[in-house]
Amino acid sequence: PVINFSPGPAKLPESVLERAQKEMLNFNNTGVSVMELSHRSSDFTRIITTTENNLRKLLNIPDNYRVLFLQGGGTGQFSAIPLNLLSLKPGQTADYIVTGSWSAKAAQEAEKFGKVNLVIPKVKKYTDIPEPETWNLNPEASYVYYCANETIHGVEFQYIPETNGVPLIVDMSSNILTRQLDISKFGAIFAGAQKNIGCAGVTLVIIREDLIGKALPICPIIFDFKVQVGNNSLYNTPPTYSIYIMGLVFEWILAQGGVPEMEKKAITKSTMVYDMVDSSNGFYVCPLSKGCRSRMNVPVRIGAPEGDEAMEKKFLEEAEKNKLISLKGHRSVGGLRISLYNAVTVEETQVLVKFMKEFMDRYRK
Ligand code: PLP
Repeated sequence: PVINFSPGPAKLPESVLERAQKEMLNFNNTGVSVMELSHRSSDFTRIITTTENNLRKLLNIPDNYRVLFLQGGGTGQFSAIPLNLLSLKPGQTADYIVTGSWSAKAAQEAEKFGKVNLVIPKVKKYTDIPEPETWNLNPEASYVYYCANETIHGVEFQYIPETNGVPLIVDMSSNILTRQLDISKFGAIFAGAQKNIGCAGVTLVIIREDLIGKALPICPIIFDFKVQVGNNSLYNTPPTYSIYIMGLVFEWILAQGGVPEMEKKAITKSTMVYDMVDSSNGFYVCPLSKGCRSRMNVPVRIGAPEGDEAMEKKFLEEAEKNKLISLKGHRSVGGLRISLYNAVTVEETQVLVKFMKEFMDRYRK
């Protein structure tokens, strides 16, 4: 069988796909597929309610936080966040901690609607997170924004930034439900589903109640958190099938032992890969500082420091012959990228590490 290390849309647990297949033509004896159910039917209401309740259980979401299931992806939230939250303070300024391409894109989008303060200096290469003592945080900012895991560069925060009371907004598209979290530290959390929690099409937003209701007048209605909260994410037709798949993934995570178990596995899997890289005497190189290495996306170059592209191509070809797929680095950084989301097992990671070792032994000069 193929082992899929895709950065997203990514591997789903086999049991989730099998269950979806089993229920495909006749969901819960309704005689129809989930895709064909009205979003206002009692069957779909049960799906969305159970999905939310299971997420609340998994993340210990406090009662003063609301959960939304929206469309538009992570990129939609790059716009929705400033449109809803810039006016929390009269200056309509937001702080952005840019540590990779995704937070850079979010900051660029926010500039359309208000003033953006870059908390850390612009860099050419994203391989590090400067010490918080050096950050230029604005106490008058409406919010502070960051990306918890930069999927392309593999920069992951190992801590939650301190903002002295300014609401903290986070993009967790590629690491939600992979580490334990104190939700009360955040103003809002958002995440596209297609990496750790389902298939593309649905975007999760978890937001503290008191931040809702301040949208700019130009905010499109489907992105207005107040409207969506008031309608339990059913102001318009939500991505029903993607919500159903997300619900199956939440049940799977609960059955596995919840977030602590996902976190334990993420540490095991990523440590295996980093140990392989670090013990390769420079054959494999991970450009990141150790303090911000992602457990989800491991960027690797063969042949430091710029990468030996011919060798990397050979690696990808041979990996594919061995049914290890989607290991190519993002086009903007090159090299390899090993994505280790929740559905990738420890055993599958072992297969990859063994392949890396064999490849190295074969080609090391
Ligand atoms: N944020 C992060 C961290 C991502 O990895 C991605 C996509 O890969 C996005 C945002 C953009 O998400 P979408 O493609 O759902 O708009």
